[in-house]
Formats: sequence, C-alpha cells, structure tokens
Amino acid sequence: MVMKFDKSLITTLREEPKEAESKSHRILLRAGFIKQLGAGVHIYLPLGWRVLRKIEQIIREEHERIGAQELLMPAMSPKEIWEESGRWEEYGDDMFRFKDRKGREYCLCPTHEEIITEIARKRIRSYRDLPQTWYQIQMKFRDELRPRFGVIRSRQFIMKDSYSLDRDDEGLDRSFNLHKEAYMKVFKRCGLGFEIVDASGGLMGTGESKEFVARVSGGEDTLVACEQCDYRANLEAAQGEGEFVTFDDSPITEVHTPGKKSVEEVSTFLNVSPKNLVKSMFFTAPDKKPILILLRGDYDINESILHNRFGFSYKAAAAEEIMKYFGAEPGFIGPQEREGIDIYADELLKSAHGMITGANRNDYHVKGLSTERDIRVKEFLNLRTVKSGDKCIRCQGKLVLHNGLELGHIFKLGTKYSEALGATFLDENGQEKPIVMGSYGIGLERIMACACEQKGDELGAVWPISIAPFEVYVVVLNPVDKDIAHIADEIAQALTKADFSIIIDDRDISAGIKFNDSDLLGIPMRVTIGPKGIKNKKFDIYLRETREVFGVDKNMIIKKCSELKDVLYRRLGD
Ligand SMILES: [Zn+2]
Repeated sequence: MVMKFDKSLITTLREEPKEAESKSHRILLRAGFIKQLGAGVHIYLPLGWRVLRKIEQIIREEHERIGAQELLMPAMSPKEIWEESGRWEEYGDDMFRFKDRKGREYCLCPTHEEIITEIARKRIRSYRDLPQTWYQIQMKFRDELRPRFGVIRSRQFIMKDSYSLDRDDEGLDRSFNLHKEAYMKVFKRCGLGFEIVDASGGLMGTGESKEFVARVSGGEDTLVACEQCDYRANLEAAQGEGEFVTFDDSPITEVHTPGKKSVEEVSTFLNVSPKNLVKSMFFTAPDKKPILILLRGDYDINESILHNRFGFSYKAAAAEEIMKYFGAEPGFIGPQEREGIDIYADELLKSAHGMITGANRNDYHVKGLSTERDIRVKEFLNLRTVKSGDKCIRCQGKLVLHNGLELGHIFKLGTKYSEALGATFLDENGQEKPIVMGSYGIGLERIMACACEQKGDELGAVWPISIAPFEVYVVVLNPVDKDIAHIADEIAQALTKADFSIIIDDRDISAGIKFNDSDLLGIPMRVTIGPKGIKNKKFDIYLRETREVFGVDKNMIIKKCSELKDVLYRRLGD
C-alpha cells in the first residue's frame, strides 16, 4: 500500500488542539487520525482507520485461534428482548432509545448478551451443540453523561465482543481461560504494557471477572495495586482493610452548623477530622424498602458493592424524598430514630463512639453518636471505596492507587441471561439445563489511544510496528529535481515490492515541516531521499522509536528496513 501525502486526507495541526484532554487525545487530533463530529462522536480519518483495521486483524487472528466464529449482529434491537432480561430498565439513561414510525421502541445496543442468548435459544438443542464461541467486531452505543478523553470514553465506539456457551462451570472455566490467553496475546502483539486485575461485573452480573488495564496518565480508570504482593483490582472491585478509630463516649448533643453540609465544611467548621463524621446516604427503589448507608466521613461509597448487594434499582434519593423521610435537607440528615428504613453501616463504624452526623433538622448536626448505643444497624458491611494507604486483604501490605485505562474485560455470566431468556439444552440424560455463558470485550479505540499514551512522546505518536498505519515514511527532499524524483520513485517501488506499506511525502515544502510531520504521525521507519544522500551515496534510515539514524547504500535500503522491521516486531510487548 502506497499513500501520497499531498493527495491524502491527512490534516496535521501545528497548534495544540484546545479540546484535547489527554496525551492520546492530543496526538490523535494533531496527527489527523481522528476528528470530533459531536460530543463523544468521532470520525476515523484514513490514518486512524488503518490503525483500527490492523488492531482488528490481530484480534481476529487470536479469536480464530481459539475457535471463535465471527458473526455480525445488528446495532439496533427491539425493546422486548431487553425487557426479558430486565436491562431495558436497568440501563436507564445510558441507553440510546428511539421509536420507529409505528411507535415500536428500539435501542442502539450498548452490548449484545440478549441478542446472543436469542440466537442460542433458537439454535442450541443438545449438549452435542456445545461448546460454542461467537464474536463480532462492531459499533456500540452508550449515552455517556460526560464523554471524555477523545475516543477513550465516547458515545459510539468499536468493540470486539465475544460470548461463550458451555454446558457447565468447567466448560465456562475453559472458555474464560482461553479468552484470557487470547487477550494477553492481542495486547502483547499490539505492543502494550498491561496488567490483569480483579474486576466487578457491573450490569453484566456478579460472576468472576477480570479486567486488562494499562497504566497510563490519561486514563479514567483506577487500578489498585498492593506494594508487597500481586493483588491487583480495579477500584470498583478492590477491597482493603481500613483502620478503626473511635472518639470519646458522650451523650448526643445538637450543634448549630448553619449552611455546613459537606464532610469538608462540617469538619472544618467544627475543627475535627473527617474520620469523626458519619455520612448518611439515602437510596430508594420502586416497591422496595428504602435504605440508609452509613460511611465514615473520610471514605466514599463503593457503588459497585452497593449494586451487587442491593440491586441496580436502588438510586440516590431526590431531595424531596429525603425531606419526606428525614424532615431535613440533604447534608443535615442522620440515622437517629428513623422508621421504615433499613440501615446498613460500613464495618469501620462498628463500635465507634463520639461521632458527628446530621441532626435531621436543617442547619444542625449532632455530636456524641455511638453506632451501637444510638442506632439500629441492620448489618455492618464493607461498603467503602479503597483509598491509597489502606491495607491489602491478602498480605496487609500498602495499597496504592494508579491511573489506568481499561483495554478489555472478561466476565463469567453463568446462567443469568440463559435463565431469564430461556436458553436451554438437553444433557446426556435428557434433562433440560440452562446454557452457561461468558462475555468478553475489547475496546479497539482504547488500544489505539493506549499506544499513544504509553509510546507517544513530545514529537507525537510512536506506533508499535504491528499497528502502525504505515511502516515506512519516505521523505523526498527537493522533489522538483528530476534525479531525486526518479530515485525516490525507484526506492518506493522496491519497498512496495518487498511488501512494505509506505507513505511518500514529496510535497514541495520545507524539509523541516516534512520531518516534523513524520515524527508526529509516528511511522516506525523513515527513509530520506535528497541531494545529500545522492552526493554521498548514503541514504538515512531513521527509527522513530529510538531516533537512531543509519546511513546505507541505495541497494541496501530494503535489506536494512527488513532487518529493522524484524527488530521492531521482536520488541513488541517487552
Ligand atoms: Zn498484598
């Protein structure tokens, strides 16, 4: 493949794009790989699309290797099948929905478990039909509240999603591990550094799940790592041990705290540590008993634990509801003497004395609260989001939080969807059983962004050879000179014949701009054809990653480029 720069749809930017929120976002915009059309909606220009196609190819090869069969499901789906699983409701505002001309309701699919289960319940009859793994590479849609970091959190994105169907848990373990191995190969072949961490399934279910997370500065996920052992988890799944603290035992007394609502405001105003405060968080769900969650002031709630334990229908209550149950505004509520509410408290509040919490009266708090003496806690649970400095549950080592980017996620769904939608098979004894399922996803744009985050430098992108849009950038200096143009043409042809993908930059502009653009685009190798090379009979080959320059004879260019290409492939994933 040969692309001529001056005839191409490449638009590099001299200036820093104002909307860039992270390193990868900046590089992809500046180098003309992507262009934003609307909030969280992007155009993949030819260079970006070539990177994505290469990633796609690697993913395809590794999935074919584990026996997965590719198919393509529709991006839109009728409402009914999502009602069967309960997720029409659960997805809430994250799901794009629309109606057709006859008033029938549809969604743009955020994922495809329901549709896979629909295929399975029609097609799978007996244990002889299992196991199966089906996958697709397709657009997904999520109505993100805050699209961020360019293609990292967007509202339309490309995903590889695969689904395994097995007869039992053993089969599921096998499918899960096959995917784990395949994912490791995919990310390694794409040249990325990554870690495999414990994760929570979120809306997918409560079975075992693992995330593949890359440490980058411009990610929006948080990776929790133990300094001493190999405990790794994402922030939603991480559990740590916190320190129990308690204060002087004293009777409850009211204190005036005019306008002070947040933990920070109250603790500053009363000159105490946030550890001295009890946060009250009120959640309600249709047709269910409301719950009040109590947390110590220095921790945040872990919503994933909340959802796994109480279900997704519980939502933070609106101000009117809080007023109705507590007779006070949010910020002034507390757990004392409440009827018709179940109270759950974080375990660090067990046996805590002398705590401060809302007085259920505007502009007042109470001091001296004892969680055992003064309130009826239904259960003490670990409901906290881990903080840096908490202790590892395995080895008591120190937990540290790092910025990360989720590249892929693998889940054991179990029978959640097959039971809800009635996807069953007959076993050897003729007994009907639900199919045991797994679900596995990779975000393609995230691989592209991650490569920019991990490899890119101040000059621009540095593409791993395996996913680079082109392998060689041929810079032609002084292209109006007939001799130079002739030699450039000769070399370009030889490179193409040797199966290199190349981009030829023979624009009639300054050498500096061309070199800058080649660095910005991040093409792994650059060959310079110009008057100096012709005179000295040595042409420069430049390696983008290390910035090394090799001077070689004209007839050695192909050989040297092939050698360097081999070296670059060998370095992947190191
Ligand atoms: Zn540890």
